[in-house]
Amino acid sequence: MIKQNNTQMDASYTGKWHDNLWPPFTQITSAIAPQTIRHAKGALLFKEDGTTLIDAISSWWVTLHGHSDPYIAKAIYEQAQTLEQIIFADFTHPQAKLLAERLSQASGLQRVFFSDNGSTAVEVALKLAIQWWHNQGESRHQIIAFEGAYHGDTFGAMAVGERNLFNEPFNKLLFPVCRVPWPSTWWGDYEVENREKKALDHLETLLEVPTAAVIIEPLIQGAGGMKMVRPEFLQKVQQVVRQSNALLIADEVMVGFGRSGSLFASQRAEIFPDIMAFSKGLTGGFLPMGVTMASKKIFENFLGDDPKKTFWHGHSFTANPLGCAAANASLDLLEANPNSYLNFEHRHLPFLKDISKHPKVTKVRLTGTIAAFELKTDESNGYLNVAGKNIKAYALQHNVFIRPLGNVIYLLPPLCIEDSQLEHCYHVIKKSLDCF
Ligand SMILES: *Cc1c(COP(=O)(O)O)cnc(C)c1O
Repeated sequence: MIKQNNTQMDASYTGKWHDNLWPPFTQITSAIAPQTIRHAKGALLFKEDGTTLIDAISSWWVTLHGHSDPYIAKAIYEQAQTLEQIIFADFTHPQAKLLAERLSQASGLQRVFFSDNGSTAVEVALKLAIQWWHNQGESRHQIIAFEGAYHGDTFGAMAVGERNLFNEPFNKLLFPVCRVPWPSTWWGDYEVENREKKALDHLETLLEVPTAAVIIEPLIQGAGGMKMVRPEFLQKVQQVVRQSNALLIADEVMVGFGRSGSLFASQRAEIFPDIMAFSKGLTGGFLPMGVTMASKKIFENFLGDDPKKTFWHGHSFTANPLGCAAANASLDLLEANPNSYLNFEHRHLPFLKDISKHPKVTKVRLTGTIAAFELKTDESNGYLNVAGKNIKAYALQHNVFIRPLGNVIYLLPPLCIEDSQLEHCYHVIKKSLDCF
């Protein structure tokens, strides 16, 4: 019986998916067949059949300036011919030093710890926070995170993220984390202050227990559904966290490097975390790399003669020179043209205002390069909601690549997207709303 079932399933995807590939976050028995991309330039993906797609979500939020940006490509090429990799426990190299100086200057946090991706950057942040308390002889293990949070897919990152369908098999193995409601807001929301107050009251109660750290996605929860909060809320969170002496960790893996309309979302919200995690846009989206920034106060507690004080953590590719070269080149581009992200909201605004009038559209919101709204549906608003899936399929047929999160439709384009391309994305989405 089971065997038969398997055969049926095999038949349904044979020819759609390569026999040796296992794609991320995808149930291949029901997913749309993947398309092969041979090359990409700017905001455009070129398919094998010669047609193009506008990459309206920056290839899972990583492509910052645009695909195949020649300046970053050249920096990587030149670095590869000079120094491709070096063990970072015994050596350093110019690109790492330069990048660390620039990130420290920009974030106000002194130390940079390199890893490989967003999840590892979060793991490092959590381990630093726990060991920081341990090193000063205080046992603090309570961690507080927000409802709906997403911090990555490794075990520590899963533990601080929202418990849901995706991590259910591992639930028993995830360490306990306290949760605070996330008072997200949208255009025309008049009750946000009440929700913020409830969240803050809850946070204050939880903080009565000595807490190691509070982890937050500043301004925008990404995978949780592009849920945006007001800077005022984050400032109040910071205030109560400070009163309790807990550390504040900002997971800027998605929102960092201009996505939120300023270089870092923490800057825009005017909060000063003790620890920050970056990845995705760090290298302009060219190479996998994560960094965890820590304040001088954190770093100093790891110094001393006692080997137990050391942060015994590292990855083979720590501070990979190619990644550092890409990140430095990406920072060059951001510095050369800050208006590309500072003014992005104005580019979304007219289109978003227009689509907000559509009867099926609700909870419209915008922060920096990220615009989102929800579909009014009768069904539950979960990730598996089908309306978003239909809209994605329609958009693909009309040369736009989007990836709705359940009934949340969002655009998160690369900075280079042209006005006419952005307009086309909104046009297609609007038309799709009338089809379903
Ligand atoms: C994507 C993401 C992560 C995980 O990063 P990966 O590189 O996919 O491991 C962590 N936190 C946030 C906020 C993210 O958006």
